[in-house]
Amino acid sequence: MNDVLNAARRKAEGIVAQAVAKALQAKGYEAVAVGTKEEALAEVLKLIPAGASVGVPGTVTVREIGAMEKLAERGCRISQHWSPNIKPEERMQILDDENHADYLLTSANAITRDGKILNIDGNGNRVSGMAWGRGTLIFVIGVNKVVPDLEAGIARVHAASIPNTLRLNGNTPCLQTGHCVDCDSPARTCRALLILERPTMGRKTHVIMVGEDLGY
Ligand code: SF4
Repeated sequence: MNDVLNAARRKAEGIVAQAVAKALQAKGYEAVAVGTKEEALAEVLKLIPAGASVGVPGTVTVREIGAMEKLAERGCRISQHWSPNIKPEERMQILDDENHADYLLTSANAITRDGKILNIDGNGNRVSGMAWGRGTLIFVIGVNKVVPDLEAGIARVHAASIPNTLRLNGNTPCLQTGHCVDCDSPARTCRALLILERPTMGRKTHVIMVGEDLGY
């Protein structure tokens, strides 16, 4: 019985991923839909050649699909401020390097059914790199990020702040309430919200929609 239910759920998620990819194509994105994280990784590896420089900002999804290891294996030069080996004095340069790489490989906090991509940042580094950069932009987005509309998307980006803050050992009011209270905490992680309505002018932007849950 569970197998039947799982198969039906996977099929339904695949349909959602395909519908969003189609909406993104209509907006000018290079968008594809795939069923699994392994297929998502294969798409990423098709797009990024050996030896390229790749910026990977804060994203769980990109790490979940195994892209970091595979890109490193093929000799890509990866900039990532999540690396445990970074000294505090190197951090600003690495944030800069991420956004100036040949490829910026990232995910989204939410995406609407009609293809609006939402992200929120505390530092603003990710959203600035998504809004402007000379490199190719690649999003990998799990179907769990799909929301009906912008209002639901904004609620989702704040909800995603809770596991993200836990990951960072932060201390924000939503960790006590379980929901966003639009706080004034100095530790607030929700400070810069970017809604991409279309790819920014002249920027090659790929979106890989994945018919399974990735990131949070
Ligand atoms: S309570 Fe503050 S940190 Fe938490 S989701 Fe809301 S605005 Fe973001």
